[in-house]
Formats: sequence, structure tokens, C-alpha cells
Amino acid sequence: MRVFELLQADSYEQVVHCHDSATGLRAIVAVHSTRLGPALGGTRFFPYPTEDDALEDVLRLAKGMTYKAAAAGLDLGGGKAVILGDPNAPGVKTEALLRTYARFVGSLGGRYITAEDVGTTQADMDTIRKETRWVTGVSRSLGGSGDPSAATAYGVLHGMKAVARSLWGNTSLGDRHVVVSGVGKVGYALVRHLVEERARITVTDVSAEALARVAKDFDVATVEPAAAHAVGCDIYSPCAMGKALSEATIPELGCAAVVGSANNQLADASCVDLLATKGVVYAPDYVVNAGGIINIAEELSPAGYHRERAYANVRRIFDTTTTVLETASSSGISTAAAADRLAEGRIAALNQVRLLRTGGDGS
Ligand code: NAD
Repeated sequence: MRVFELLQADSYEQVVHCHDSATGLRAIVAVHSTRLGPALGGTRFFPYPTEDDALEDVLRLAKGMTYKAAAAGLDLGGGKAVILGDPNAPGVKTEALLRTYARFVGSLGGRYITAEDVGTTQADMDTIRKETRWVTGVSRSLGGSGDPSAATAYGVLHGMKAVARSLWGNTSLGDRHVVVSGVGKVGYALVRHLVEERARITVTDVSAEALARVAKDFDVATVEPAAAHAVGCDIYSPCAMGKALSEATIPELGCAAVVGSANNQLADASCVDLLATKGVVYAPDYVVNAGGIINIAEELSPAGYHRERAYANVRRIFDTTTTVLETASSSGISTAAAADRLAEGRIAALNQVRLLRTGGDGS
């Protein structure tokens, strides 16, 4: 009963619970929308405290993917999957479990296409590929596009350039001070781009190892993680975990704009007003961090993965970010609302196209 209430509230299409006693598999696949195309979204492998936590997370994430794909101009819907369990515990993430999970994904016949996410790796996607073709982000040797992080960083860079042009009149990040919080896969690649742009860079990370690697490779200043958001700078770039922008951090922000890769940067809806009061420009997370999915989507093109074409598409994040900033300004709404409007508008417009009878081979 409760599941249907949740599905109705945000118009979810399908939720599938997958169980296998032999391997211990417990997974939930959520398809939020296939209006624009197959529902693409990663598989998160996580030790959720309760089943309800897992269900809530997969539903929230699947809906987020619908908006991300729609705003990015992709012919993809939104979906997500979670496998319940600790991927690092001995004997949990076995080959048999992953291949069983893959068979469940395959049974959806392409309505849901999976990819890497927290707790799963490219090697896991390669294992899943042995059982189903409905998986992306597999190794290059299998015809895939590999780790999406580099494309994500490249997209964030172009989101920053759009914000720079909007705020300062040109796309240059030269001499702009950028604080990158989280220098893991995406953050590290972003720092490399920013070095090429001749930006002034400050970094932080809770991992001494990650911080040491970036400090060894590049000329960057460092700051304590808890103080990063308050550093006086041009752009603050959250590239770690979600909820970087909250009731506690927003009043202390020292930047003119926030542009980062982290998912779910706003702790709650009230943050939109707090950002407006503070006068900080927020580039919506799912708009600027779509480089990974744009790159992965290229794997599904009939011609197969083509890096140059994929990266040309990732560069379009500049235009999408510009559209969002301009819509927010001209309509007097927040950038977050402008991004949602863009995504919902595209879904509605293309739905109209599909209602058109062609009489030929249109379906
Ligand atoms: P990652 O795990 O490689 O890197 C995250 C880094 O953040 C780690 O080095 C970690 O030590 C650090 N960190 C954790 N908590 C921190 C804190 N409180 N302060 C500072 N640093 C902290 O992950 P990633 O793949 O680089 O992804 C970064 C973010 O971008 C995540 O939110 C992810 O969901 C999002 N994202 C990633 C991709 C992608 O292609 N990898 C795509 C879209 C969105």
C-alpha cells in the first residue's frame, strides 16, 4: 500500500524488487520515467539501515535521473537501482550475485539500463555485461566508454565557464579563484582543467591521500574541509558528498557562485531562498554534472561509442547552464526552478511529438 502511495506521489512507472536466496541478492530497480527513452541510471551498492531507506533512496535517485537526462537533451528516461548490502564486506559482492542481478536487469528488456554508481565499479559493469547488454560504462575493451569521471569534470568546467560569462562577461577562468572540495575522481580531473585555465586553486579533502596526490601534481593551496565553503573566492565547487549547501553553510559562503559535481548539493528546499538572500549564483548540480551520463549515453548510439562526439555533447553543458541562468533571471525564479522547468518542458514537448500520428513507420 505504502509503495503505491510513493509511486503515485511522483508518477513513478515501475519498481521491481529482486531477490535470490542462493547469492543473497536483495535489489530494487526503480523506473521513474521512460517518456524520453529507456531509463538510465547507476546501480548503488550500499548497506542501507532499513528497507525503507533503500526504497526512498532509489526512488529519489531515479526521479533525479529523469530530470538530469531531460535537461541534458538526451533521449533517455530516469531510473536507478540499489543493491542492499556492504560491497566491501567479505563474500557479499560476489560474481554470482552481480550476474544474478544482471539477469534481473536483463529481464526488464531495456526499460532500465544500468551503470556504475557508489559501491559499484567498472569491473562490476563488465561482470554484469556477461549476462545482459543493458549496461553502460563497461571497459573500453568491451566497447564501452570507461570511467565517466573525466567527462563529468569536463562538463563541470563548461558549467563554470557559462557562470563566468554570466557574472564577469567572459568565459575565462584565468586568475579566478576556485575552491574545489573533494579531489577524488571528478575533483582531481577538474583541478587539472583549472590548472590549464590558469585559475587560482584551493583544494580540500577528508582523505589525506587524495589531498597529497593533488598537492604533489599541481600548484594548489589547501584548506581544512570544514572551512572550504567559507573561503573568499570566485567559485566554490563541491565535488564530494551531497548537502554541501545547507542552513549552516550558506550564510558563511565566501564565493560568488557554486558550480560543482556533487549530487544533491542542496540540503533541502529552503536553501534556494537562503542562496538568493546571500546573493550567490547556484549552477544546478544535475545540469553541470551531466557530463558522465552524456558520455555514457553515447555508448547507446547505433554507431557505438565515439569519444569526440561524446565530448562535443558534454561541451553543450555550457549552453544548458546559460539557458538556466538566463531563464532564472528573466522569469525571476531560482536557478534550481529554472532547471526543473527546462527538464519538465522538454518532457512535455516531446510527449506532444509522440502523440502525432504519422501513418507511416512512426510508432
Ligand atoms: P570520489 O569518491 O572519487 O571522490 C570524492 C572525494 O570527496 C574523495 O576523495 C573523498 O575523500 C572526498 N570527501 C568525502 N567527504 C568529504 C568532505 N566532507 N569534504 C571534503 N572532501 C570529502 O567520487 P567522484 O566520482 O569524484 O564523485 C564526486 C561527486 O560527484 C559525488 O557526489 C558524485 O555523486 C558526483 N558525481 C560523480 C560523477 C562521476 O562521473 N564520477 C557523475 C555525476 C556526479
